[in-house]
Amino acid sequence: MIIVSLVPIPYRIAALTAEKHALFEYPSNRLAGIIRDVHFRCTCCAKCCTRAFNGHVFLLDRDVRAVREIDPAALEPAPDPEFCDQNGIFYVSGYALRVKGDAEGSCWFLENGRCRIYDRRFSICRIYPYMLHREPDERGKVDWRQISGLDNHGEYNAEISEEESQAIARETMEYEEAFLAHQIAFLECIQEWFGRHKLRHVQKIYDEKMRQYRKGTPITVMAYYDGTLEKHRLCINGPAR
Ligand code: SF4
Ligand code: SF4
Repeated sequence: MIIVSLVPIPYRIAALTAEKHALFEYPSNRLAGIIRDVHFRCTCCAKCCTRAFNGHVFLLDRDVRAVREIDPAALEPAPDPEFCDQNGIFYVSGYALRVKGDAEGSCWFLENGRCRIYDRRFSICRIYPYMLHREPDERGKVDWRQISGLDNHGEYNAEISEEESQAIARETMEYEEAFLAHQIAFLECIQEWFGRHKLRHVQKIYDEKMRQYRKGTPITVMAYYDGTLEKHRLCINGPAR
C-alpha cells in the first residue's frame, strides 16, 4: 500500500495537474450521453446524506462560505488529514459537513429524511451521484467513472432530455475541475508553508498522534481554506474545549 502523504508533493501536484488536463479533454457530450443511457432517477431515500453510505461531504471554498452563513456549527475539518509535521500538527485539505451522533452518521442538515437547506445545498450535493474522475476498478484497471454507487440506490427508468443531460454534465465537470484546483492549491500552500517553517511530514508521529487521538487526546489540525491554513483543536467527538 502507498501512503499518499509519502509521495513527494511536487509529484502529487503534477499528477493532479495531469488529471485536470485529462478532464479538459473529456468531451462533455460523451458524459451527457452516458447520463441519458444510465436513466438514473433519484428516489429521495437520503442515504447519500449519511456517512454510513457516502463517507464525508467535502466542501469547496464557496461551500464553506455558504455554510458559515447558514450555520457555522455544521462545519468541521475534513477527516483523515494528509500530513503531520515533526511537531505533531496535522494538515487537511479542507472542510466537511459535520454529522449528527446517530447510528448512520446523518448530515447536520438532514431532518426527517429531508435536507432542510435543499435549495442552498452544496456543490457535491447538487451533482451526486454523477462524477467524472478516474479510479481503479476491482482489478486495478484505471478508467473514468461517471456515476457513484451504481445499482445501490435510486431507480434506472428516467427519461432525461438532451438539454437536462448537458446541464448535468456541465455542472459535474465544473465541480470536478474545481475540486482538482482546490487540491492543487492546498498542496502548493503546504509546500510553501513547510518550506518557510522548515517542517516535514513524519509518518511515525502521524500514526502515534492518531492513536492517541482515537483514545481521547486532543490534536491540532490546520484546515486549508481560501489560500490559508485555519487552526483547530479537535477531540474525537468534536472541537476541544
Ligand atoms: S446538505 Fe442536504 S443534500 Fe447535502 S448531504 Fe446534507 S442533507 Fe444531504
Ligand atoms: S441520490 Fe441516491 S442515495 Fe441520494 S437520495 Fe437520491 S436515490 Fe437516495
